[in-house]
Amino acid sequence: MLVRDVTVNGRTYGWPARPLVVVCLDGSAFEYIDRAIVAGVAPFLRSLVSSGFFRLVHSALPSITNTNNASIVTGVPPAVHGIIGNFFLDRSTGEAVMMNDASFLRAETILSAFSRAGARVAIVTAKDKLRRLLCHDVDGPCLSIEAKGVEVYSAELSERALAEGVGLLESAAPNIMYVSTSDYVQHKHAPGEAAANRFYAALDRSLAAIDRLGATLVVTADHGMRAKADTAGRVRAVFLQDVVDDWLGRDTARVVLPITDPYVRHHGSLGSCAMVYLGAEPVIVEAPALVERINGLRGIDVAVAHAEACRRFDLPLDRTGDIVVFADAETVIGTRATEHDLSALDAPLRSHGGRAEQQVPMLVNRRAGDIAVAAKTQLHNYDAFDVGLNRCE
Ligand SMILES: [Zn+2]
Repeated sequence: MLVRDVTVNGRTYGWPARPLVVVCLDGSAFEYIDRAIVAGVAPFLRSLVSSGFFRLVHSALPSITNTNNASIVTGVPPAVHGIIGNFFLDRSTGEAVMMNDASFLRAETILSAFSRAGARVAIVTAKDKLRRLLCHDVDGPCLSIEAKGVEVYSAELSERALAEGVGLLESAAPNIMYVSTSDYVQHKHAPGEAAANRFYAALDRSLAAIDRLGATLVVTADHGMRAKADTAGRVRAVFLQDVVDDWLGRDTARVVLPITDPYVRHHGSLGSCAMVYLGAEPVIVEAPALVERINGLRGIDVAVAHAEACRRFDLPLDRTGDIVVFADAETVIGTRATEHDLSALDAPLRSHGGRAEQQVPMLVNRRAGDIAVAAKTQLHNYDAFDVGLNRCE
């Protein structure tokens, strides 16, 4: 095997001296890990926090699953890789398009680049939708636990994903492995709840096993998670399509929610990001009055017009709405109240998507060399492979 650096999407990654395992713990706001540590059930994660490398970093925006998994495996933000969520509006057809497969991914993954260079690469995902997005052009084991028949709405799905990763590390001896879990537990349970602590205890055991096998381990998350219901359990939502219909006339503007996905029991398609489209072309006079009105709504963190939003949030010009809207930490955005079936939710809503869920941990089982220099700029979860391959001692 030719050992050499691999350059992909403008970054050069060193060949792994020992196996590198990058783990994306879906929906893991640091509070989940912290509370499990305090409860004494996550001794390995505790050791990472106290003696490995630990930083709170930013996720890509919107703070949702596919966007961030795509960012982590490509090392670049959505402006480059193009995956801004599960759905975007195709302006030429007026249709909301689902982008759950690799044909929408515009950047090569670090995984496929190393695979092409002759590295042994392995990928394990909890959900099958992510396997299809991430495994493109990778020659090596790529599997999802969902495809093995495990219940998708379960803690087991993620626990098995990590356990499978441990098994593959032993049996397939990959140079590079990526493991991605699901956020079923975090959508349902707050940090410190018994079910959450049980879950992190199980993850902790597998992470410790990866460490014992001698791999460099980088643990991060795709997004955080926050309570989006009031104390009575009622969802705090801005139904933005209803609002703009009321202001402008029905269907004058179109609200698309990037978090919309078929797994409705997680969040009823309610997250903290929305894209507002005003017409077939990106609007040049960027509807400043509408931006201002949306900014004035209770529960809204910020509304930003297209060009500025793409600049500020690293979003792709052609897949971003005329106005990008983030709800605040306690609030989600829906389309019309009648379009969200919340009967499938079996716990008070917890969700993500906004800037308030952008902070995630990065934990490494080695010292990371010149990270102090890099810390001058904001570290992101999509620096995980850079940290693991270029900055660890
Ligand atoms: Zn997620």
